[in-house]
Amino acid sequence: MNSRIKTYPPQTVICRENEVEYVFYMILEGDFEVTKTINNSETRLLKSLTAGDFFGEMALIHNAPRAATVRSKTNVIVLELDKDGFNRVLKRSPSIAMAMVSEISNRLRQNDQMAIEDLRLRASELADAYQRLAEQDLACREFLTIVAHELRRPLMVAGGYLQVLQKGMVTGDDLDSKINTIARNIDQITTLVNDILFLQEIELVLPEFDAVNMVKIAEVVVRKYEGKAETRHVTVQVKIDHNIPDAKGDARSLERALTALVDNAIKYSPPNGMVEIRLTTQADRVLITVEDHGIGIAPDILPRIFDRFFHVDKNGDELYGGLGIGLSITRQVIQQHKGSLDVESEPGKGSTFTMSLLKWQPLN
Ligand code: ADP
Repeated sequence: MNSRIKTYPPQTVICRENEVEYVFYMILEGDFEVTKTINNSETRLLKSLTAGDFFGEMALIHNAPRAATVRSKTNVIVLELDKDGFNRVLKRSPSIAMAMVSEISNRLRQNDQMAIEDLRLRASELADAYQRLAEQDLACREFLTIVAHELRRPLMVAGGYLQVLQKGMVTGDDLDSKINTIARNIDQITTLVNDILFLQEIELVLPEFDAVNMVKIAEVVVRKYEGKAETRHVTVQVKIDHNIPDAKGDARSLERALTALVDNAIKYSPPNGMVEIRLTTQADRVLITVEDHGIGIAPDILPRIFDRFFHVDKNGDELYGGLGIGLSITRQVIQQHKGSLDVESEPGKGSTFTMSLLKWQPLN
């Protein structure tokens, strides 16, 4: 071929990155764009070329594959030279040779800068990933310490009482009360272990949704908490609107989500306090509200209460047990259900948590 003039329509790839072919192009008319693939996925625009510019010389000089892709943006006319033609032009025209040397050194500099920029980006991505790993590692170690502490307390109490019983010196009412204490502490350990397992599971398995009767679930939760409410002299009331439809969800997860709200409402209520659970409907939603008149939540910690392991263990002289898992479970369950979870609270006055779930539609 040596040389020829050719025309191409817009969007023609004249040179393709990584392809081996030895043609040099001088643009007589039209515009081109030069792009390069970065990190195997992203395409970056390197520059635009127009009449008077040239491309394709790198492959001829270095016998290398194309370093970038050149595509026509408009109708274009180019002068194409093969290797012999290209060599002849270089020999005969020092000004073209010079222009090419300057163009090549420019491109090399640009490539260097691009490589440095990419390296910088990579370095900062690595630093971020490392930071995240370190945070996760710290959270994991903190979690183990908290779990160990939380388990130790009931284990020691139960263990201590068992030793007393083993000595056989306790009888009558005293025996009953000691056995009750052991049972209560073992319950606490079981709840804790179940919570931790639930938390692991909920991240791994997406529940299958079904029609869920939230009235029944509320009744089950209230029954489960009768003992605890009585011990704390807290009254739990349930108010249910007429004809509450089924919600779309997973019954076990929703029971766990409501349990955390009721558990907290009783725990953070004052003695003789009152907790109200309400079931209502609003458009295509079923709403479950849990209201208490307890210690309330300060505005500065309100945004953090749903975080995993966030726990306030003290309010005035009162100490509160807990791992800070309950609300994070509730939030995760509600997110999985594409529902919403809202809270309104005033320190010293009480808190109201509302879960909103989609109604079950038989045909969906
Ligand atoms: P835990 O109760 O085990 O600490 P949660 O995740 O259930 O864990 O709650 C996180 C924190 O949110 C609690 O430590 C408490 O500070 C606050 N909180 C949750 N519910 C209530 C409530 N009804 N009244 C006051 N504070 C609450």
